[in-house]
Amino acid sequence: MTHILLRHRDVENLHDLQVYLDHGGYEGLRKALAMSPDAVIQLVKDSGLRGRGGAGFPTGVKWSFVPKDVFPKYVCVNADESEPGTFKDRELLEGNPHQVLEGALIAAYAIQAEAIYVYFRGEFWDVARAFDQVISQAQAAGLVGQKILGSQWSCQVYTHLGAGAYICGEETALLESLEGKRGYPRIRPPFPAAVGLYNQPTVINNVETLANVPYILVNGADGYRQFGTPDSPGVKIFSVSGHVARPGNYELPFGGETTFRKIIEMAGGTPSGLAVKGILPAGASAAILPATDEVLDTPIAYGSFKAWDTDIGSASVIVLDESVDMVWAASKMIHFFAHESCGQCTPCREGTYWLSRLYERAMHGAADQGDVAKMNSVAGQMKGKCICALGEFAVNPVMATIKHFPDDYQRMTRGISATEPVAEASPQPGK
Ligand code: SF4
Repeated sequence: MTHILLRHRDVENLHDLQVYLDHGGYEGLRKALAMSPDAVIQLVKDSGLRGRGGAGFPTGVKWSFVPKDVFPKYVCVNADESEPGTFKDRELLEGNPHQVLEGALIAAYAIQAEAIYVYFRGEFWDVARAFDQVISQAQAAGLVGQKILGSQWSCQVYTHLGAGAYICGEETALLESLEGKRGYPRIRPPFPAAVGLYNQPTVINNVETLANVPYILVNGADGYRQFGTPDSPGVKIFSVSGHVARPGNYELPFGGETTFRKIIEMAGGTPSGLAVKGILPAGASAAILPATDEVLDTPIAYGSFKAWDTDIGSASVIVLDESVDMVWAASKMIHFFAHESCGQCTPCREGTYWLSRLYERAMHGAADQGDVAKMNSVAGQMKGKCICALGEFAVNPVMATIKHFPDDYQRMTRGISATEPVAEASPQPGK
């Protein structure tokens, strides 16, 4: 199958505007401009495209929430790719940036926005600088700026660099940061579609989500729905890392033959030859899956792993082989969330701190029988009581590893230190 998103792997120099135009680039935008904004929203609704940033919310529905009669309106591109194990947006922005920009322009036209802000994580300074060139190229060609492609609609595009905080990938924290404030998530409602950037209606979409949009405009909803399942149409980029021989991004349709077993095989299996013990389906955010045959052979789509209380989120698949002590794995994730908690609400700020202290004890062989119950209890007191999803995510590594890997916790309570894995994970994801 040729790529829909990672097209730069099929077409050399696709990042160059002329090459992109020679291969059908900006045809989706031209089509959109010939349609009414409402018709564009309806088409994206009909395609069933769901947000690829993690939540999987239907994109067209999100756009339809924006009020028609309030101006100005904005589109924000969430390029704050920070989930551990996720590196798909970076590849898209570097290899196929015009497709991302075209998708953002179509979104902006659909809601009649006058500006697009592309929010890059701070570490993407080089990607942001290159994207400025992409915007300049597009502006010179009449694709950005005043009266785009001869239409009556004008839209400017700006880039903005964050300062490296994971929480700014949360859409309302992103808005706060864009406004020059500390990146604290906002309490909702109101939702950004009604009260977003500078209190104006705003759509925030992930990079990969927007990269799907030009294909939908050119090929129609049915053309897009030829891939995937009725509830999860289209293709998804899986960022695969951990204990695999060939880490990297893999673009596959949802459902059907797309299973974790297939993905791990495509990625060359475990370098150690050890069996897979667990799979993080969405970086640190989603609950870990035990690598049972049922899990490995389940066709992957949104909602496929409900029975295990987890989902595919941004599909940053981290594979852990049998050498991994899951108490060690959970301690790493808890340390991460404790570090990245913005501290705004007490259950998250205190809960992640106390969990990280408990796991420190485990790492030093000082945990006792009561510590598993304490871990469960602290996590339970955080669940459902936090302002944003980070507090919920932080609970997952604790509860899921206690549930699926009881032997590792039993060892911990016998005073045996949780250990680092024997086998080394592949250090650098390839492409
Ligand atoms: Fe901040 Fe955590 Fe509360 Fe989110 S849940 S607002 S990260 S303290």
